[in-house]
Amino acid sequence: MTEELEILWALHGLDDQIATLQGALKRHASERAGLDQRLQAERVHLETHKQRVAALQLKRRELEREIETLGAEERKFQSQLPMVKKNEEYTALLTEIKGAKAKRSDRETDLLVLMEEEDQASRERPVVERALAGIESEANSRRREIDAEEGGEKEQVASLEAERSSLMGRLPVPTRSRYERIRASKDGRAVVAIVKGACGGCFRGQPPQVLQEARRGDRLLLCDGCGRLLIWPPDVPSPTP
Ligand SMILES: [Zn+2]
Repeated sequence: MTEELEILWALHGLDDQIATLQGALKRHASERAGLDQRLQAERVHLETHKQRVAALQLKRRELEREIETLGAEERKFQSQLPMVKKNEEYTALLTEIKGAKAKRSDRETDLLVLMEEEDQASRERPVVERALAGIESEANSRRREIDAEEGGEKEQVASLEAERSSLMGRLPVPTRSRYERIRASKDGRAVVAIVKGACGGCFRGQPPQVLQEARRGDRLLLCDGCGRLLIWPPDVPSPTP
């Protein structure tokens, strides 16, 4: 194998590791986004709950005021009863009193239903809060784990990149730019091994001529299928022809 091919083969190994690490970094980013989404949903849940309780309290105060007003009305009519002289006025007043009483009784029933609902909601509140706290602490500890893993992975990428650029410096400029061009368009993998007579990137079977040349390892070969550089892996013994 020529020195150029040896360097390319070494780059292939580094790029494979970098691509794997970058895949892991991407997964971490999407896991983090998933955690944020869960947290957000739980926060919205608590907020909605608070708003519901506030609406119930407001409605309860309205009902209490209404009941008070109806009671005052009733007492006012009651106080007028002894002063009424005519029979029909008396009857009319009694009807008013009856009406106010019935209305008040209805509002009181509404109030009881509402208080029951409010009570129920206030018992749910700690459950919702605990759920949020649980998810918060779970998300925080998972985030710390992700941060630690990510830190390690980023360090590894940096050291692989450094190794990569020193190898790159040893390649002839045309090969270097060709390599980088392919690498950029083929998700981080410019060089692939020939596996069982086929391109290890796109699995296209290679003609015997190409396989022979690859085994000799004296020049750069391209896969017609995917455009990547093909190398006969040095650690795989060439089959005896
Ligand atoms: Zn290919």
